[in-house]
Amino acid sequence: MMPGQIAKFGNSAAQLLLGGLAALRSFGNGEKDSPAVGDNSRQDAVGLRDAVKQWREVFEHNPVMYFMVDPAGTVLNVNTFGAAQLGYTTAELIGKPVLNVFFEEDHDLVRQCIALCLTTVNQSHTWEIRKFRKDGSVLWVRENAKAMLRGDGMPILLVACENITQRKEAEDALRQSEAYLAQAQELSHTGSFGLSLATGEAIWSQETFRIFQCDLATKPTLNFVFQRIHPEDRDMVRRTLDRASRLAENFDHEYRLLMPDGSVKYLHSVARAVRRASGHIEFVGAISDVTIAKESEQRLRRSEAYLAEAQRLSQTSSWAWDVDRQQFAYRSTELYRLFGFEPDQVDVPARAFQQRILPEDFQRIVEVERQAVLRKEPFEVDFRIVRPDGSIRRVHTEGHPVVGSDGEVREIIGTHVDVTERVAAKEALQRAFDELKTSEQRFRDYAETASDWFWESGPDHRITQISEHTDAAGAAPTGLIGLTRWDIPPDAELDPGKWEQHRAALDAHLPFRDLVYRGRDRNGSPIYVRTSGKPLHDADGHFLGYRGVSSDVTAAIRAEQAEEALRIAQAELAHVTRVTTLGELTASIAHEVNQPLAAVISNADACIGWLGREPANLDAARRSVEWIVEDANRASEVIRRIRALAKKTEIEMVPLDINQVVREAMALVRHELATHSVSVRMELSSGLPRICGDRIQLQQVLINLVMNGIEAMQANVDRPRELAIRSTRVDEDGEGHLLLTVRDRGVGLGSDVADRIFTPFFTTKSGGLGMGLSICRSIIEAHAGRLSALSEEGSGATFRIALPFPHEDTS
Ligand code: ADP
Repeated sequence: MMPGQIAKFGNSAAQLLLGGLAALRSFGNGEKDSPAVGDNSRQDAVGLRDAVKQWREVFEHNPVMYFMVDPAGTVLNVNTFGAAQLGYTTAELIGKPVLNVFFEEDHDLVRQCIALCLTTVNQSHTWEIRKFRKDGSVLWVRENAKAMLRGDGMPILLVACENITQRKEAEDALRQSEAYLAQAQELSHTGSFGLSLATGEAIWSQETFRIFQCDLATKPTLNFVFQRIHPEDRDMVRRTLDRASRLAENFDHEYRLLMPDGSVKYLHSVARAVRRASGHIEFVGAISDVTIAKESEQRLRRSEAYLAEAQRLSQTSSWAWDVDRQQFAYRSTELYRLFGFEPDQVDVPARAFQQRILPEDFQRIVEVERQAVLRKEPFEVDFRIVRPDGSIRRVHTEGHPVVGSDGEVREIIGTHVDVTERVAAKEALQRAFDELKTSEQRFRDYAETASDWFWESGPDHRITQISEHTDAAGAAPTGLIGLTRWDIPPDAELDPGKWEQHRAALDAHLPFRDLVYRGRDRNGSPIYVRTSGKPLHDADGHFLGYRGVSSDVTAAIRAEQAEEALRIAQAELAHVTRVTTLGELTASIAHEVNQPLAAVISNADACIGWLGREPANLDAARRSVEWIVEDANRASEVIRRIRALAKKTEIEMVPLDINQVVREAMALVRHELATHSVSVRMELSSGLPRICGDRIQLQQVLINLVMNGIEAMQANVDRPRELAIRSTRVDEDGEGHLLLTVRDRGVGLGSDVADRIFTPFFTTKSGGLGMGLSICRSIIEAHAGRLSALSEEGSGATFRIALPFPHEDTS
């Protein structure tokens, strides 16, 4: 619109032009000649015309837009340049309202500017405003305007305008990129800063204010930053800054903030050292809030630690094999231990692992894996490892091929379970069974054939007579005449105490009963002999020796030994199956431990926050600590229970609240249930008397039944996967007992299976050991209880545990 000032001419140049324009005012548009008034006047008139011409030249062709506007806002004059800038000819603008070239929404502003100039005649004013060209495009101008009085006293407005469109666009672009930057900073939780260590002053971006949680009016200083830094990190940050400023070097560090609400933030800050002209060092950098990443990293590290612990307890290791590159993509710490490497020997090549596998087993594994990759199917394989100390470990492996987007197998992920003890226990158990079977047979044979024999010994205890056995198969030993009983190898050396006692009895001429010792039968085979004798005296009371009877008790003793071996093997197997179950529950356990620990950490942070306040909020801090103690107890309770399950302990029969035992066991399988989408209904009767039992063994039974139930419901599609656990008191024949049932809605037990499920080694699962239920039954029987199964085929199985209440409790 109106006269304005152009930066490139400077204010004074614009003023000059405005002055010149004022000089033109009495000549209208300068085209008419002035009236002649004498020679002098003519000369004056000529001079004036020249001046007008000059000014007109300046007016028309100066690259500044000039407008003359009357108080009503009508354009009185405009220079050619000004009109052309707007895409008009001068004639198109002159006589028209100047508002025509302004945006509708700016009209008020234009009117106000005109009014201002008119009320302050001869004062110039400057503003910036948009105009639109004839073609509709936008032109930004900076206008310098001034109202002047014409000779007739009418005010006119002179305006000089400078085109600032480019600058405006640059400013807009800058503003926009600043807005984008602010948005990007907000989204990435990254702020920027400038910091002068000499003055302690800082310049922050909006996001930096947000990170430090203070309003934009706060003046950011180094002091303020230090107040926010976590007390434990302040020294470290100070050292970093001191060093960076001393050596004028960049820095990159992480530290924590302790926020006013007690929460903790993790920051990562990177800065570049810049030397100012003054010689001072300043830092320009970025600061990111990495709390979320840190916390997930910590959580991850914690669960990795628990996983490692759980893998160690359950002797399970996990790995991923890169099929293309033929090397491990991942291996757990436990894998190193299994193969006899140090867990921190991270760079052991895959070949070194392979070389520890027995060569014939390795060939087999390679083939199994090749087939699995070809068919893209999971596989299981057993193999043996020879450790450097020569010991052999047996391993059971399960592998799953992972198919890439191109449909090819890229990786195999899998687990190795160290089954050495399990296999050994199974073999020992098998041997014990076989032994028991043979000794039963032998016992029967002996019982049919064996009989006692009689003997006599003299005063020196040497045998003088042995009755001849009538039956050829009889066991009475021969060749013993003249020997003492302790001369008969090899028992004498084995148990000297027993013989000392026996000899003392003989020397005292006392009778003896049921001495058992090892001897040999007439064929030289070792046998166990039981003998009793009484002293003989003559009429005068002189000691003559002993007379007695012996029998071969080998079969009975062997049977006892076999039973004992069976008991030990069973206990051993119960332990290894428990450990195996723990392996299956690894994820559950990590989850159970993780939860309370995460709570401990956040409460500890909160507590530090409460203590860091001025003054410290001790009540709140105490409450946080109480929660920490509760959660820490919860976590250590879980660990304790797992340790108890993993440890080999003597059976401990103590009064137990069965509902408590159930809840503890269920806590360990909670995650497993969730993973398999199994819901649990617990109906535990309250006020049940305590039962007498071993907590760990009863939990083992429950976990076993629950895991079997989960497996039995794997194939459920139309039935819900639901497990019901009930505890209740049952009174029969005046006797009360506890009934605990575990009911699933799985495949159920077919008649062909139902009779055999409690038989050792019976399993219908490919990887099953078939010992679970037989161990459960022997545990329950050791508690004087009964374990039975009911089933309607196709609608699930119910396992019933009946346990007696101790007498004092039932009364
Ligand atoms: P494993 O689980 O190693 O096979 P168990 O002794 O625990 O050994 O179980 C023996 C067999 O009993 C199983 O293989 C399965 O056929 C059957 N069985 C056990 N529990 C259930 C159940 N809840 N539902 C159906 N069948 C079951």
